[in-house]
Amino acid sequence: MFARTYDCLIVGAGPAGCRLALGLVEQGLEVLLLDHLRPTYSGPHESVIGWTSSGWFGAGRKAIEAALPQWDALRRGAIWGSEEVRWQNEFLLGGLIRRGEFDRRLRAQCVDAGVTLAAPATLAARRDDGTWVVRDSQCDHRVRARTVVVATGRARRSAPLPAPEVIGPPLLAVTVLGTPAGEDRGSAVIESVPDGWSWCTALPEGPASAVLMIEPALLAGGPSRAAIAGVLATCRGPAGRLRDWRVVCANDATPRCRPPHAALLALGDAAATVDPMASQGVEKALHMADSVAGLIAPAIANPDWLPQLCRGHAEREHQLARTCQLRAQDFYRAETRWAERPFWRARQAAAPSAPAPVVPTGPLRVAPNARPGMVVTVGHRTCRAQPGWNDERTGRGLSQIGGLPLTPLFGLFERPRSLAEAVAAAATVPELFVSSPAKVREALLLLCADGWLIPAGS
Ligand SMILES: Cc1cc2nc3c(=O)[nH]c(=O)nc-3n(C[C@H](O)[C@H](O)[C@H](O)COP(=O)(O)OP(=O)(O)OC[C@H]3O[C@@H](n4cnc5c(N)ncnc54)[C@H](O)[C@@H]3O)c2cc1C
Repeated sequence: MFARTYDCLIVGAGPAGCRLALGLVEQGLEVLLLDHLRPTYSGPHESVIGWTSSGWFGAGRKAIEAALPQWDALRRGAIWGSEEVRWQNEFLLGGLIRRGEFDRRLRAQCVDAGVTLAAPATLAARRDDGTWVVRDSQCDHRVRARTVVVATGRARRSAPLPAPEVIGPPLLAVTVLGTPAGEDRGSAVIESVPDGWSWCTALPEGPASAVLMIEPALLAGGPSRAAIAGVLATCRGPAGRLRDWRVVCANDATPRCRPPHAALLALGDAAATVDPMASQGVEKALHMADSVAGLIAPAIANPDWLPQLCRGHAEREHQLARTCQLRAQDFYRAETRWAERPFWRARQAAAPSAPAPVVPTGPLRVAPNARPGMVVTVGHRTCRAQPGWNDERTGRGLSQIGGLPLTPLFGLFERPRSLAEAVAAAATVPELFVSSPAKVREALLLLCADGWLIPAGS
């Protein structure tokens, strides 16, 4: 059924996988896209918000518009920080994504563009000869892939990727569908309640959805009807007026970042999931897919770059996820009414401030595991190799730090020197002397903090 060799095998045909597949066939690459058709998104309705138009997520917006040509004219409101509903259409410029329909349209775009789509299908195993076993409903197929991207969403276990690390308080998302009150039709309302928050979307027709975001401990005995009814009863807005509701799914929505794998690129939620409060998961997935589309051809041409490409891409995913996390925290901090309740206490805690840098007093040297070599740096849709240093233990590569080139900084430590001596010596090095002593010192402290410079006696 499948051709035997693909330039890229993508596992997971959600927004991230589909957008990447499209980006690759546009470059003339052969792509096999798999999906087992058991998605874990939050329910029928998700939203994209105004920041989509900022340019940061510009390419993602194009993909969304191509898949959903019409924006919904919903009244968008918030009950947050007070009992009042504040209608804020002009602020929320974005739109509603009908998950399911949206994903189907993205997949149809892929097939039209020449992607080979296998669904339902999944990756069953890797053989010793380097081939992959793809399992569909009929049988197993052996395929070769020059690169493999895992875009399987938020599932915590996604073999063979390493387990993700938690970057925010635990969060459970329970989605219910029900009949909205007549006056709530045509609205989307976010509302804070003592034990979390809800997001209720009531279209002009059909059932409304409400996602309840709560502490998992609240439903420790399972998502019982009584416990969910208890949370809904605290909602003053449309979620509290739903009738005949039923639970459609419960998802672990805890924000997480996954450490990089040496040979497989993780993309979208598989690389980093953000707090749903940020409303940016889909945009992040599309944006990072565009970014990875620029890495696959270089990875095929230079297979030995792959570990550094995986690491560089993971760092960008994590950075973006942490930025989204900060945005979510701003929203949480704007609600102060239930500061003593566990849900809000966990989210309003001050962000842990970075520890003050330890200023080394004695002589320093370059760590023995640092080796000069080519370093691959990853940017948006680009990567390039340049001379730098590799950490033999962690595989991390670095060509500059704090805006200063690494090789002349390391040159300051041809013999052990204290921080102050090295800063003074930098004034005589052609590549460094244009930089202020404060900038050189800052760069050297970063090298100490990252373990590239160590006490000479250790
Ligand atoms: C409660 C909640 C509310 C949210 N609200 C919003 C919101 O309002 N706005 C927003 O932008 N984002 C929101 N998000 C986040 C958004 O759902 C995700 O960030 C987004 O879906 C990530 O896209 P993805 O392509 O990385 O993963 P997914 O959309 O999860 O797609 C992964 C795909 O991989 C497939 N798959 C998984 N495992 C395998 C396997 N082993 N083999 C084959 N196929 C596999 C799945 O079937 C699925 O199609 C919300 C998330 C939650 C939990």
